[in-house]
Amino acid sequence: MSQPDVVDSVAALRARIRDWRRDGLRVAMVPTMGALHEGHLSLIRIACEKAERCVVSIFVNPTQFAPSEDLDKYPRQLTRDLDMLATVKADLAFTPTVGAMYPAGFATKISVGGPSAGLESDFRPTFFEGVATVVAKLFLQATPDYAVFGEKDYQQLCVVRQLCHDLDLPVEIIGAPTIRDAHGLAMSSRNAYLDEAELAVARQLNVILRKAAAALASGAHRDDATAEARRALTAAGFQKVDYVEARESLTLAPWRRDRAGRLLAAAWLGKTRLIDNVEVSTG
Ligand code: AMP
Repeated sequence: MSQPDVVDSVAALRARIRDWRRDGLRVAMVPTMGALHEGHLSLIRIACEKAERCVVSIFVNPTQFAPSEDLDKYPRQLTRDLDMLATVKADLAFTPTVGAMYPAGFATKISVGGPSAGLESDFRPTFFEGVATVVAKLFLQATPDYAVFGEKDYQQLCVVRQLCHDLDLPVEIIGAPTIRDAHGLAMSSRNAYLDEAELAVARQLNVILRKAAAALASGAHRDDATAEARRALTAAGFQKVDYVEARESLTLAPWRRDRAGRLLAAAWLGKTRLIDNVEVSTG
């Protein structure tokens, strides 16, 4: 397959989508920050099944990084990304510049409540404002019928659903399962920061979460299971555990046994922060 066409202006994106719509074609969007891996490709495959046309945005969104975070060193590799997109059926890559997305004088922020409370927000207080604002912009620019987001960033998926529901954005959000390496490590662009020793520790994150989810499923108390998981993460070599929490899958309220649950965690390995989550199945 050949590389997708690339547009970097909102006007060119809109023109292309207008042509598709004129031909009666539906559009699915996959927002990404690039440094693509199999996880991203899996979302694009789902998008291509849902709609006749698929647009992938590649934009490292500065407003979702705090000043102390890794914006400058976040991997940027557009040529390689376009080669990867050639292996799936993406029709168009949208690669706006920071100036195009946030021209001088830009002064709007979207703040989503509900599922954005706690978890990531306790440690990255401006993160979801950045995400919600850029996702709203992308949706207004591309007006997709569908958009696919990974369960890997589970809280983000919930926040995006809330955003679209509350603002009546006419897009159906599709959640896609987390793609993992052979050892269970969730694929992430940030895994590129890890050396061999750190990778071995990183692979324990999912093992420990699955064990805690199994303990919850077989009756362990919520706070005992999460405290044990925190201890296990530290013992495995994570230097700092930001959180391990059991939440309700839909609302992200604290988990109650009679509700579908999700166990979510964030922990640090050196300068790299990893997140992961697993389902808590109670029968
Ligand atoms: P990012 O480029 O990290 O902003 O991610 C773009 C999209 O890819 C988000 O919807 C992520 O949840 C999703 N994603 C990232 N890693 C994975 C993975 N391992 N499996 C499935 N989806 C993923």
